[in-house]
Amino acid sequence: MEFKDTIIVVTGGTRGIGRAVSLDFAAAGGKVFAAYRSNQVAADETVALAAGLAGSITVVQADVSSSEGAQLLISRAAEATGQIDVLVNNAGIIRDGWLAMMADDDWDAVIRTNLYPLFHCCKWGVRKMMAQRSGAIVTISSISAVSGTAGQSNYAASKGAAISFTKSLAREVGPMGIRVNAVVAGLIDTDMTAGLKQEIVAGILKGAALGRIGRPDEVADAVLFLASRNASYITGQSLVVDGGIL
Ligand code: NDP
Repeated sequence: MEFKDTIIVVTGGTRGIGRAVSLDFAAAGGKVFAAYRSNQVAADETVALAAGLAGSITVVQADVSSSEGAQLLISRAAEATGQIDVLVNNAGIIRDGWLAMMADDDWDAVIRTNLYPLFHCCKWGVRKMMAQRSGAIVTISSISAVSGTAGQSNYAASKGAAISFTKSLAREVGPMGIRVNAVVAGLIDTDMTAGLKQEIVAGILKGAALGRIGRPDEVADAVLFLASRNASYITGQSLVVDGGIL
């Protein structure tokens, strides 16, 4: 079990892709600290699902778009050992709409929820990793960042920034033994995509080599790979996990 007793932080780690990531790390022996914003039921379910796994999941209610929330999460995770081995920046939302009609709130909420946590969580997480001179950071981006999606200018901007942020931070902290990568996810079956109209889903999947929607655990596999020793010479990269859409 590669992640036995390692400390892993997953933002938005209680639903969808984040839940799959939390469970996979816990199955591999990791001590996972999964942040959520408000859905206590999903958080409790995630803890219950981890029962019997080699590792553990501790849920932490923390709004990681604020510095206070990020600090709370990182200090809670580092409480026992002082270490943070892996940070997965996964928390995110969509508020789709045509730019010409987009409410200021919809722009602000998406940029604040998807982009600010990268700054806050990495800032506090990297301080621990620098002290220990090791660590891995994986951020969930989206194919919207690369291909563009009409109606998602706010979301695409936040996810494109995640890729640029990954490249720059990788250069900054690489000399200290810290790797920073991104996963560029395609259409994945979660609450976030459950409300999409059938014709939109069909339109996206028409161009996908595999012709089907992805599962959260298929994204989690890529996250664990990038966080693992198998990826020890990979940093600053964006791994596309989209069933062949791009
Ligand atoms: P879900 O909506 O299923 O889950 C989102 C999770 O993020 C929840 O645990 C939620 O907590 C948490 N969260 C949201 N805002 C905050 C916050 N401010 N602080 C702490 N936690 C927060 O999303 P997905 O699993 O679908 O998406 C996960 C990531 O993957 C997102 O970044 C998304 O953009 C990205 N992605 C998703 C794709 C997809 O097709 N699903 C495709 C490409 C990328 P709570 O339960 O309390 O609300």
